Amino acid sequence: MKIVYRMGTLLAMSVVLAMSAPVLPAEAARTAAPPRKVTTVVSLTFDDGDATHPSVARMLERRGMRGTFYVNTGAIGHTGKLTRGQVIALARAGHEVGGHTLTHVRLDELTRDEQRGQICDDRRTLVRWGLRPATLAYPFGAVDADAKAVARGCGYDAARTVGGLRRWGCLGCPAGETPRPKDRYGIRTPGSVREDTSLRQLKQQVLNAEKGGGGLLPLVFHRVCDACGVYSVPPKVMNEFLDWLAARGTRGTVVKTLEEAVGARYRPLPPE
Ligand SMILES: [Zn+2]
Repeated sequence: MKIVYRMGTLLAMSVVLAMSAPVLPAEAARTAAPPRKVTTVVSLTFDDGDATHPSVARMLERRGMRGTFYVNTGAIGHTGKLTRGQVIALARAGHEVGGHTLTHVRLDELTRDEQRGQICDDRRTLVRWGLRPATLAYPFGAVDADAKAVARGCGYDAARTVGGLRRWGCLGCPAGETPRPKDRYGIRTPGSVREDTSLRQLKQQVLNAEKGGGGLLPLVFHRVCDACGVYSVPPKVMNEFLDWLAARGTRGTVVKTLEEAVGARYRPLPPE
């Protein structure tokens, strides 16, 4: 009876709508099924310009997703790392390429001048390659107030750390960042994804963020290959995670680059 009543009400409403104003077919379809509101944005970030990154980029592209790749320009072209051509190809395919310092140093152990060299020179190289880097990732997530100020001074509009969000080890941490992080130069993440991180744990981080009201969940990956180090994830796990993640769209969870997620803009380099 309830269903019949609802259908009757809908029919009556349709009649009223049809009488009051002409409804174009496309508009009618939208009215019938409004798009799900985006509540959780997952950013898939990949650090260190690893040689396995073009393959994970293709995994993302096949699902209409784009990732954020943080590279150390000082290591580009070295064994096990991306070539300059591959970095440029990632950007051309619509991925975000951001800075990760020149030589992957702990910024909190450097003087401000040294920090400037590591962050600004790295960014300057990316710009010289024709890229428009808008966000930075601090190596090891190691950051202090000086490094944040230098990141801003070098023209970055936002920066990512490692840690601060809930992981299976930190139940007291929040599950997600706010959609517009308060500290744009200290965007938090769960800890780096490791070799022993299970598919279930990867999914759980997203579920926790969804349950916590959504917001931004940046995930930190390094290498994507089988049994290739502590900071790696097997391609099979990544593929399964991405399939699962793509299906979360119906729950209002989407994948965006970090730049897009926080609305970061490209800003010009400071004078040399
Ligand atoms: Zn790194």
